[in-house]
Amino acid sequence: MAEGATGDLAAMEYEICIGLETHVQVKTRTKVFCACPTEFGAEPNSNVCPVCLGYPGSLPVINEEAIRKTVLAGMLVGAKIARYSKFDRKNYFYPDMPKNYQISQYDLPLVIGGTVEYDFGIVDKKRLGETKVCHLTRIHLEEDVGKNFHFERTSGVDFNRAGTPLMEIVSEPDLSSSDEAFAYLTALKEILIYGGISDCDMEKGQVRCDVNISVRPKGQKELGQKVEIKNMNTFSGVRHAIDYESQRQIETLRRGGKLVQETRRWDDVAGVTESMRTKEHAHDYRYFPEPDLLPVSLSEEWLAEVRKLVPELPSAKRKRMVERYGIPLYDAGVLSADAALADYFEAAAKASKNPKSVANWICNDLLRDLAEAKLAIGQSPVKPPHIAELVELVDSGRISSKIAKDVFVEMFKTGKAPAAIVAEKGWVQVSDTGAIGKFCDEVIAANPKIVADFKAGKEVALNALTGQVMKLSKGKANPQAVRDALRAKLTG
Ligand SMILES: [Zn+2]
Repeated sequence: MAEGATGDLAAMEYEICIGLETHVQVKTRTKVFCACPTEFGAEPNSNVCPVCLGYPGSLPVINEEAIRKTVLAGMLVGAKIARYSKFDRKNYFYPDMPKNYQISQYDLPLVIGGTVEYDFGIVDKKRLGETKVCHLTRIHLEEDVGKNFHFERTSGVDFNRAGTPLMEIVSEPDLSSSDEAFAYLTALKEILIYGGISDCDMEKGQVRCDVNISVRPKGQKELGQKVEIKNMNTFSGVRHAIDYESQRQIETLRRGGKLVQETRRWDDVAGVTESMRTKEHAHDYRYFPEPDLLPVSLSEEWLAEVRKLVPELPSAKRKRMVERYGIPLYDAGVLSADAALADYFEAAAKASKNPKSVANWICNDLLRDLAEAKLAIGQSPVKPPHIAELVELVDSGRISSKIAKDVFVEMFKTGKAPAAIVAEKGWVQVSDTGAIGKFCDEVIAANPKIVADFKAGKEVALNALTGQVMKLSKGKANPQAVRDALRAKLTG
């Protein structure tokens, strides 16, 4: 773009470049460099020891499980796993960090590269199946810090969280809108939960995010001036902060202003970002190798064992489900969002000739009732073979789909098999023409006005009569048989 073309500034088109640094708590029983439990919500400063309190002379010992899960995360995103990596000290001073340095990884991280594929269906149902890829720079392992609490007259620090393993997943600036950032984070979270790497519980602060954002004139190769927004802890916050900050930057440039490299914070209440400080450079942290920990060297055998833990990923599972079971992509998305739910569906679908109907029952009725009862899929009183059996009862005409709804309610309440419930309650669908004929006669006799309407050519009147017969049969009559019988009686 030509310098001095100030007249065109206001009309200039910009594009937004976003990279995310996502901190995710790794799911381990104990902390990353000591044996203290990682349990959430314990009495302040009860899960601490000389190591995580940074006492002089105490020595860190690496938790193998934290390394394993970080490496597994790398495998899940198709990254290169470093055979040799090391830990470094990142020096800075803050009350929530007792050692005045954080053990992290600088130039030799555990995981290099990788990609995360995300689907726009998460931001707009109509765009389901439209995917894009975000490249990762690296994933490294570090320790979390403590937590500051500010009371009316004093402040306190809880070190329970200090030393909890934290994975930092750094993306390239591939994302170009708040929607893309949101879809990327959602996909990343799904992958990490699938792999058992983290629970990604946002309410417990297990996922936090720094947003790097810049804007540049459309077509320009180099990135614009980068601004970092620190410590976002909700995905919706990330979305709003990006929308606000990108607009702020574009407007500043359009007015002929200059952007400075800085760190900003998002004020969720005011809905604005505000400057915290102009950015320190990386060398301000005076990184140097952690002298108390040996470098990490991973053997081929060890890596092969980790590779065995790699599950089928959600996106692959969705594609396979659509192909194998012929269900809509939307249903496959719902069902694959949770590995246990996907397994449940597949168990039921394999036992059924009609997987599409199985998917319907699970996506609508089962998930609704589980949510109401606050139960996880693993606690479902309805088991997969029972869903298959219910579908079969409907498809074979033994019960109507209306009765099936009642059967499902009983199944959820009692855990009994649907066929047993149908037998017990006498809910078998009546297709017997004699019985249906009797109901029809009764309804015809009781509704002379509607009958006259139908005879006068009002076809919809038949629906009203069918409804009456269904009601009289307590939903047990086969609706098609009822329509046929009514028509025969009224026209014959
Ligand atoms: Zn400890």
